[in-house]
Amino acid sequence: MNYSIAIDGPAGAGKSTIAKAIAKEMGFLYVDTGAMYRAIALYFLRKGVDASDTEYIAKECSGLRVRLDYDEEGRQQVLLNDENVTPYIRTEEVGKMASRTAAIPAVRAALLDLQRDMAATSNVLMDGRDIGTNVLPNASLKIYLTASSLVRARRRYEELKEKGVSCELAQIERDIVDRDRQDMSREIAPLRQAEDAVLVDSSDMSIEEVVSTVIAEFNKIL
Ligand code: C5P
Repeated sequence: MNYSIAIDGPAGAGKSTIAKAIAKEMGFLYVDTGAMYRAIALYFLRKGVDASDTEYIAKECSGLRVRLDYDEEGRQQVLLNDENVTPYIRTEEVGKMASRTAAIPAVRAALLDLQRDMAATSNVLMDGRDIGTNVLPNASLKIYLTASSLVRARRRYEELKEKGVSCELAQIERDIVDRDRQDMSREIAPLRQAEDAVLVDSSDMSIEEVVSTVIAEFNKIL
């Protein structure tokens, strides 16, 4: 039997930082499902397709090949039609497009089996928006990781500043709140806390504290 840990939560809650650290410590495969949605979004952005063109997107996406691979250091790489698109998916533009295209049922259907297959063959730590509610409803452990929108915006602001990108805190917070609203209000697989998920609010917690909280929760189920 494989173990699976599902970590869901809103944008900027620190899911990937936490998930990577825990996966490394526990020797689990880390699956960042947001990267898959971002790869599909990139495909349509490059083609100049508007996210409102849902019929076209639904038709095209069944022919897209999204695959995950891991480099020598174990870092996840996302491949779109065999091109490694990992360097191009982390922009705000791609994030926004991903949130819009992720609301299209055919886009979600194109990724669901791939995500489930990964959990069927390895011990996984999977993060996203609908892992505990939809992708892995029988996950060994479900975590809903959140933080206040201001704390999430501040973290993002610091990250961008460090990269030398000029930005404004209030605008980042507005974008975060918009993305939350979009992800929580869509009809298919909206972001919400699964009934059996453990709520972790990281607003006043360090990365180390969140990591040890999740590992302690996992040890409880063994
Ligand atoms: O987590 P990340 O910001 O990379 O995700 C980008 C977008 O992809 C999210 O805003 C969300 O709309 C979508 N997504 C999703 N389901 C997942 C993971 C991501 O709908 N499991």
